[in-house]
Amino acid sequence: MITWFQRQIRPVAVCLVLIFTILAAGCSTGNRPAGVDTTGQVVVKVLDIGQGDAILIRSGGQVTMIDTGDTPAKEKLAAILSKEGITTVDKLILTHPHSDHIGGATTVLERFTVKQVYDSGQTTTTATYRKYMQTVEKKKIPFTLLAAGDTVDIGGGASLKILSPKKPFFTEDNGQLDLNNNSIVAKLIFGSFSMLFTGDAEKQSELQMIKNNGSELKSSVLKVGHHGSNTSSTPEFLKAVAAEAAIISLGEGNDYHHPHPGTLKKLESQKYKIYRTDRSGTVTVTSDGRTYTIGKEKE
Ligand SMILES: [Zn+2]
Repeated sequence: MITWFQRQIRPVAVCLVLIFTILAAGCSTGNRPAGVDTTGQVVVKVLDIGQGDAILIRSGGQVTMIDTGDTPAKEKLAAILSKEGITTVDKLILTHPHSDHIGGATTVLERFTVKQVYDSGQTTTTATYRKYMQTVEKKKIPFTLLAAGDTVDIGGGASLKILSPKKPFFTEDNGQLDLNNNSIVAKLIFGSFSMLFTGDAEKQSELQMIKNNGSELKSSVLKVGHHGSNTSSTPEFLKAVAAEAAIISLGEGNDYHHPHPGTLKKLESQKYKIYRTDRSGTVTVTSDGRTYTIGKEKE
């Protein structure tokens, strides 16, 4: 026979036991930040692709690329992706339409399954740009513009927060679009680890991002803007980012004399540890959402 007490109290007791069980299970994951895939890692490879940018991010089984290097390196890029065992690129982000960033885009679109393409919405008249756009259209690949305030989920609990560009676009004195300063700037967030990808953003973009929300720039690792040129990496920007490590993507003996000695000095004076793809080859950053390690291909 079930008494009134058993009818009323037993379900409550069962609920309390369940709640305590759930809480205890939650606590057993320690202080891992919310939203992090507890089995996963994020791996970022700043590829050794000569003068240009090509960055590979793997998270939760997804592959995201930021830029595709320059045209002469397109075969090298395709070979690297194949060696990585990649057949599908889930998300391809092109920061701005200069050839050292979109040079390998058509090759990637033609030889790999690309599920989604993002760019800044800036257009140019170059053959490289036109071919890239025609290929996106021909293959009917979903295409989205990114701007400050957007967020892209890249799998495994990691996301990219877009910090720039912001409309209206920056223009040059001659009225043309300032392609570098309208670069997509994205902050990878994975638990308490973060990495800032700046494309070729220069001083104007850096100062605008500080003005918009300077505290958002704070990151664990920085991909240095514009291959270490002296038109990027203002002291104010480096102070806001306050990363421990800086990775510069550039070609050995490049025609632009990147990195600029002044940029290296600014990074050093703000205690950034510098990694360069021209000396170290591909630089790999691996994070579990709390700590991270940085590996070099060549010592
Ligand atoms: Zn560039």
